Amino acid sequence: MRRRKYWGWGYEDEGLSSAEEARLGSLLATFFGVTPAPGSAPPPVEALGLPASRLPSPPPASFASSVSAYDRVLHAGGRSYRDLVRFRSGRVDHPPDLVAFPASVSELVACLEWVDRVGAAVIPFGGGTSVTGGVEPAVPARFSGTVSLDLSRLNRVLAVDPLAQLVHVEAGILGPDLDAALKPHGLSIRHYPQSYYFSTVGGWIATRSGGHYSTLLGKIDTRVCALEVVAPNGTVGATRKLPSSSIGPDPNALWIGSEGLLGVITKAWLRVHPLPRFKKTVGVQFQELGHALEAARRIVQAGLYPVHLRVLDPFEAMMSAAFTSGLFEEARPVLILGFESAAQEVDAMLEAALAQAAACGGKTASARGTKADEVEGWRHIFFRQPYVRDTLIGWGLIADTFETAIPWDRAEAFYHEVREATLEAVEEQCGAGAVLGRTTHAYPDGVAFYFTFFGRGRPGEQLEQWSAIKKAATDAVARGGGTASHHHACGRDHAPWSEQELPSIWKAALLGAKAALDPRGAMNPGVVFP
Ligand SMILES: Cc1cc2nc3c(=O)[nH]c(=O)nc-3n(C[C@H](O)[C@H](O)[C@H](O)COP(=O)(O)OP(=O)(O)OC[C@H]3O[C@@H](n4cnc5c(N)ncnc54)[C@H](O)[C@@H]3O)c2cc1C
Repeated sequence: MRRRKYWGWGYEDEGLSSAEEARLGSLLATFFGVTPAPGSAPPPVEALGLPASRLPSPPPASFASSVSAYDRVLHAGGRSYRDLVRFRSGRVDHPPDLVAFPASVSELVACLEWVDRVGAAVIPFGGGTSVTGGVEPAVPARFSGTVSLDLSRLNRVLAVDPLAQLVHVEAGILGPDLDAALKPHGLSIRHYPQSYYFSTVGGWIATRSGGHYSTLLGKIDTRVCALEVVAPNGTVGATRKLPSSSIGPDPNALWIGSEGLLGVITKAWLRVHPLPRFKKTVGVQFQELGHALEAARRIVQAGLYPVHLRVLDPFEAMMSAAFTSGLFEEARPVLILGFESAAQEVDAMLEAALAQAAACGGKTASARGTKADEVEGWRHIFFRQPYVRDTLIGWGLIADTFETAIPWDRAEAFYHEVREATLEAVEEQCGAGAVLGRTTHAYPDGVAFYFTFFGRGRPGEQLEQWSAIKKAATDAVARGGGTASHHHACGRDHAPWSEQELPSIWKAALLGAKAALDPRGAMNPGVVFP
């Protein structure tokens, strides 16, 4: 059976081709003076020497579970840079003592009851693609051990309602499996985080994930119609399938973004979309980043809402084109603009958006005779990036991303402040490296930025280097008034910044809800609240 890498992205038999590796290597050497040197292979799971499970008694047979070294290591963390560097070097700081695989709500309830009896902590685990320490069983010593609650067997599609364009699913279903079930109905989720192939509906909801559709369909928040949840004490509750309601605060909102703090999301009714029949994407080049941002703002404020609206800064535009074509050219900021519709031609909307872009000095790629590579190249690289990161980590480099959001009045200045602070930290820590930026989501009131940084790692010191850069970057984001995360969530890694960001009355309300539902504090302790 195909197994997922415990130390990287995807399956054990996947990775960059040798041609892609060669291209990446020459890119790094040419532009950043970083010479790739393959490091040693990650150790086999059997060589990791995990400590014995600490749980005081074996689990009941009422749900499936495992204490195999592979299962424990795969559930010992997410897929952040920090996780992968540790795993690759054979360091597994917090293996769960047991991995549970409930296949129904009653099995899940039986699991929670047993966890309660033995005094352990429990960590909901969807696809395990968290990049913020959300699934690492790093919990206070008062617990007798940790149970990773793997939801992959709760993965059925329960109903499709084509009339209301809704689907009812179990929360452990992966993105591609959901789309495969919707396709015969002419529907699709149209939610494509870069982790789409390995992340789950429950994980998307628990982290308020963002798909790569940049405007209308961007975040999962607006796609949730109703939820079924199981509280840590085993109580099952479900909200009603309604288009909207005004009976008190939104009950779904308590669970959207709850990161496993309050219990387990087990089922969801989600809003889905007809498969598009008409699609068009165009790249528009600008002389200045500020002009591209101005165009993006005008387009969303005009109510046009393209599914793709993404500004690549010159560095990101150059790297995307170079990775795809191997050609290095002076690059300018690029606005990628795409419309799709199941019902009507999109030319008129595209023309209207291009007119806004032209008014800000944009030149469409075709009008300038530029290769369409910038658009196609960016798309290709989107789902290859996690494999690129694995290769970079294998070469001993520091390579990570972070994202944030900010209102329009600060957007351009904020981009420069955050990029410069991050670059300074990269140069200080690594001597050489780069910071690339793009926007991922645009709203009438603001925009989300996504930065990628990489630089030379010193063998054995990469985690210290990375921590210093991550702190400098997140501090710059906080100073500039941005959020510590627009869509990657808080997890354990951003918890120190959540203190500044969230109002104390909100914290009091959430902690009150947690105390009522989870008096032992056993559900994913450490996320959101440091
Ligand atoms: C290469 C890569 C690319 C990524 N790209 C994106 C992107 O484009 N957009 C984006 O938003 N994110 C992205 N992420 C981050 C991550 O994929 C998202 O946070 C995703 O939503 C996590 O889903 P998951 O199923 O893997 O959840 P997990 O990682 O398993 O869990 C995440 C958090 O949710 C909790 N949780 C999971 N399932 C449930 C449940 N059923 N009930 C209650 N709590 C639960 C966990 O306890 C944890 O706190 C990326 C990550 C990687 C590694």
